[in-house]
Amino acid sequence: MELRDKGINTLVNESEILKKVKNREEILWINKDKNEKNDFKVEGLTPEDIDDAEDRLSRFSEYIMKAFPETKKDKGLIESPLREIPLMKNTLNKNYRSKLEGKLFLKMDSHLPIAGSVKARGGIYEILKHTEDLALEKGLIKKDDSYEKLRDPEVRDFFSQYSIHVGSTGNLGLSIGIISAEIGYKVTVHMSADAKEWKKDLLRNYGVEVVEYTEDYGKAVEEGRKKSLEDPNSYFVDDENSKTLFLGYSVAAKRLKKQIKEQNIMVDKDHPLFVYIPCGVGGAPGGISYGLKVVFKENVHCFFVEPTESPCMLIGMESGLNNKISVQDIGLTGITDADGLAVGRPSGFVGNVMKNLLSGIFTIKDFKLYDYLRDLMNSENIFLEPSACATFEGPANLLNYNNGIEFIKSINLNSKMENATHIVWATGGRLVPEDVRKEYLKTHIKNK
Ligand SMILES: *Cc1c(COP(=O)(O)O)cnc(C)c1O
Repeated sequence: MELRDKGINTLVNESEILKKVKNREEILWINKDKNEKNDFKVEGLTPEDIDDAEDRLSRFSEYIMKAFPETKKDKGLIESPLREIPLMKNTLNKNYRSKLEGKLFLKMDSHLPIAGSVKARGGIYEILKHTEDLALEKGLIKKDDSYEKLRDPEVRDFFSQYSIHVGSTGNLGLSIGIISAEIGYKVTVHMSADAKEWKKDLLRNYGVEVVEYTEDYGKAVEEGRKKSLEDPNSYFVDDENSKTLFLGYSVAAKRLKKQIKEQNIMVDKDHPLFVYIPCGVGGAPGGISYGLKVVFKENVHCFFVEPTESPCMLIGMESGLNNKISVQDIGLTGITDADGLAVGRPSGFVGNVMKNLLSGIFTIKDFKLYDYLRDLMNSENIFLEPSACATFEGPANLLNYNNGIEFIKSINLNSKMENATHIVWATGGRLVPEDVRKEYLKTHIKNK
């Protein structure tokens, strides 16, 4: 233990970047290992896996449409709007001197049906895949059947013999809990201390068992894994390592490609696309970015955003230690108002996948989450939860960092920024109750 601590201390002292991170300074980290010649075959993933996930979701579309009528308008696909937010662009340029050119869009996963967060992609997909595997194995359905059959009472009875466990800071639990309860599973969500009361209440209303921990997300996951192992009929959703979750998220890229085309947005070597996504353990931003790199290749530039108190992916990638390092190892608490991002140790799997694909990571102080939350409300009348508001740090400050400007020069884009499209990924917010919204809108915290 002591030896490892010494190792990490040396690492921090020898790295200008890690020293700043340890001091809770906001930074932009640029990934020196990015390599556009990537063939996207890493960690056993291939681009075809995304197609496979997309096909599976469309096999379930009838089922989803019947079980969740709110998905009717998208024919049973769980999808969100892509909306231009020009007034927010003006606000960023005015209040933060962002020098933002081109267009700014909001990808509104905050408003996804069923679970109201980005987790409605990965979480629901993983439970559907598990359900299909079980149902095919037991002969309950065939691949070319309409999966509506899964709503028959006998089939739901069948699934009630099986259980699901998941550890979560809130939103993953919501998405897994809601879909699992709908299918008929016994579902237990292990919630970390960060999880908001209203998320737990909502789940209990769906008949989900909620177990609360006073510790962080890592502990909730560990306990969930343990409980699941005790029951042979149980399935554990492993947010730290799951390839299935990751692929569910990655389908977003193919859907986005269609939306970009419909809105006549150009993406090519003269029209770069910048995407900014809040990062917790890494599955959601990693899966989406993997998909985006496969679809748009060197013309898309993906950035994550993490709180200064829990920049787990940043320290994992910068140190090369991936999930062998935690934010607590370098003296940070991991405690942040961005509950969805309150993760101390990154997914090692995602760190490896992103090694050559990610452009960089921004860190953000908590007080700014509420500033951006108000900015978006006042300019565009759209509400996002604090975690999701981290995304605005990207376009607000890309060109306020010297290394951001250098990055743009290094990829020969300085003269092309007026043609750029910036997409901020809104990862959650629709389900936040009215009283909590009001509270957020008037929250001002000191510069920390
Ligand atoms: C979970 C979550 C994220 C990040 O996803 P990870 O897979 O944990 O990296 C971002 N924003 C919100 C609102 C979330 O709930």
